[in-house]
Amino acid sequence: MFEKDDWRLLNNVEYLKGQGINPTNGAEITKYLPHLKHCIFCYEEVNNNRIYWFVPDEEDVSCCICEKFFADFCEMFCWRLLDGWDITWDK
Ligand SMILES: [Zn+2]
Repeated sequence: MFEKDDWRLLNNVEYLKGQGINPTNGAEITKYLPHLKHCIFCYEEVNNNRIYWFVPDEEDVSCCICEKFFADFCEMFCWRLLDGWDITWDK
């Protein structure tokens, strides 16, 4: 498990607090958001080994989050899980 403040050491991710988060998958990130290469928390490379990846619901999607870290940090970051399959990829 992670200590409550561990994430502060990893990245400047405070801006993610309270955001809506869309589920997607590795294939869609690779196709539509090719600038996203790694999970922002653990640096796992974007891949299709996991069922879900997560991206914040923002104009210029700035990061992606792997399934494991989404689950671990969901509560701490007060994330709202959105219905990601309505993502408009052309924005
Ligand atoms: Zn990760």
